[in-house]
Amino acid sequence: MIDLAVLKGSSFVVLGLARSGLATARALTAAGVGCVAWDDNAASRAAAAAAGVSVTDPASIDWPRTAALIISPGIPSHLPAPHPVAAAARAAGKKIICDVELLARAAPKACFVAITGTNGKSTTTALIGHILAQAGVRCEVGGNIGRGALDLAPLGEGDVYVLELSSYQLELLETFRANVAVWLNVTPDHIDRHGDMAGYVAAKENIFARQKVGDCAVIGIDDEPSRAVHGRISSRPGIAAVPVAFDRPVAGGVSFRAGRLIDADGYAVDFSDVPTLPGDHNAQNAACAWAACRWLDVPREKIVEGLRSYPGLPHRQERVAAVGNVVYVNDSKATNADATARALSSYRDIYWILGGQAKEGGVAPLAAYFDRIRHAFLIGEATDLFAGQLEGKLPYSRCGDLQSALDAAHVRAQREVPGLGGGPAVVLLSPACASWDQWKSYEHRGDAFRAMARALPGAQRLGKAA
Ligand code: ADP
Repeated sequence: MIDLAVLKGSSFVVLGLARSGLATARALTAAGVGCVAWDDNAASRAAAAAAGVSVTDPASIDWPRTAALIISPGIPSHLPAPHPVAAAARAAGKKIICDVELLARAAPKACFVAITGTNGKSTTTALIGHILAQAGVRCEVGGNIGRGALDLAPLGEGDVYVLELSSYQLELLETFRANVAVWLNVTPDHIDRHGDMAGYVAAKENIFARQKVGDCAVIGIDDEPSRAVHGRISSRPGIAAVPVAFDRPVAGGVSFRAGRLIDADGYAVDFSDVPTLPGDHNAQNAACAWAACRWLDVPREKIVEGLRSYPGLPHRQERVAAVGNVVYVNDSKATNADATARALSSYRDIYWILGGQAKEGGVAPLAAYFDRIRHAFLIGEATDLFAGQLEGKLPYSRCGDLQSALDAAHVRAQREVPGLGGGPAVVLLSPACASWDQWKSYEHRGDAFRAMARALPGAQRLGKAA
């Protein structure tokens, strides 16, 4: 837990008592800083009260004596409509900030590496944390991934906080400064919270706010809005703006071409065979991690070691088991067609398990990958919709539930793969759907798939996740 004694004498209101909010209220309370808290959910309020947090009715908040409202980033403070407590804070002229801002105030001497982007944030954050830890750099990894910012351990001068930051968090910072800011990519998302694409990009661009001479901005430039961001940041004096591009050389930056990661000075590493970072999208993540770690002076061979030993994150193209030359891959986090496209583009000879609660458009946008798929196995609510979209394009079976789909995919893959030249082939759970029709969450669905795949006859366990 972060020691917030530096804030003593001030009083804060904490709104939202899930993971990060509860950690915030606990850290403030433990440090003897004034703190009252609220959550609309009675169970969260009870859990906070049981942890010693002072829970208060919003109507009785003493706004004039409050320094700031600390809001959980998931709660709207502005659009589409502000939560009433946020509206009250604003009416009282109070700042609205998040836990990351308090971490910055409490640890002014630490080094901060912040990662944002529409996609790939968690992977790149975990990857940078892994490379640094392997290289012997003291670091803590959290923010929008894993532990909340104030649940992290205190670090000393020069130690590194590696923080995944969402657009919601980035809007709620006041003094936070990223020594290294990593911007992966941007595509339209969360428009309801930011008004329009320009608002979304502007919120994310806060990652570069307050950077000083000597700081570093790593920027993926594979999409148009990100190229514009690179243009703006590279014109700021003293900031080392490092562009990262896929498939083409980029002056002064890092690129990924033909399976090789290539640094600004031409130093190249063969990176084509790292099984935990498959696909072009992970090349972007790896190249951005490379640039950030280079700026932190991690020796190249240490970065290579870290990339090669990266264990991967659960539910994101996670290799969970192998039977013969067939690998079983859990991509349960792929809850929409865009994410599933990344997985489908990463393999050939795919036995594809998909379905659940469909998103708009279903799997129609994935037609370009259908030639990689040997057979599709449909589950859940989306079965009829997907059957209609696949009809005449792809052989498919209606399987009902995940266990039946895995069993059918397993039998078919084991029968066919020897005739396909022996593999490698994948049985891939990449549902392109939300999980809520049959599961509590995508994690619940992915955990079940992992256990089922490892229980297949002859299965060899892959990966570390339990
Ligand atoms: P985030 O934390 O931004 O949601 P993750 O690292 O958890 O990102 O990856 C989630 C999914 O996003 C992955 O399963 C993959 O489908 C896709 N993805 C990962 N990295 C990238 C990237 N650099 N570009 C585009 N899509 C990506």
